[in-house]
Amino acid sequence: MKANIHPKYVDAEIRCACGNVIKTRSTKPSILIGICNVCHPFYTGTQKFVDTAGRVDKFQQRMAKTQAAQAAAAKRKKK
Ligand SMILES: [Zn+2]
Repeated sequence: MKANIHPKYVDAEIRCACGNVIKTRSTKPSILIGICNVCHPFYTGTQKFVDTAGRVDKFQQRMAKTQAAQAAAAKRKKK
């Protein structure tokens, strides 16, 4: 190898948000990741439902309200 042109290749720890730690080697000693093979839904087989703000619920409530209003309006028109 040519001197002084290669980055340092050190022991590295990859830490996932789920707590999983993978030991490897890299130019960086520690790498933080958000998802790994242990917690990714593709490997776990379970689905993670990302609806923290309850947007789907809010939408369904709004839709029910609108449909009720439309039904009431249609009834009024018939009379
Ligand atoms: Zn993970």
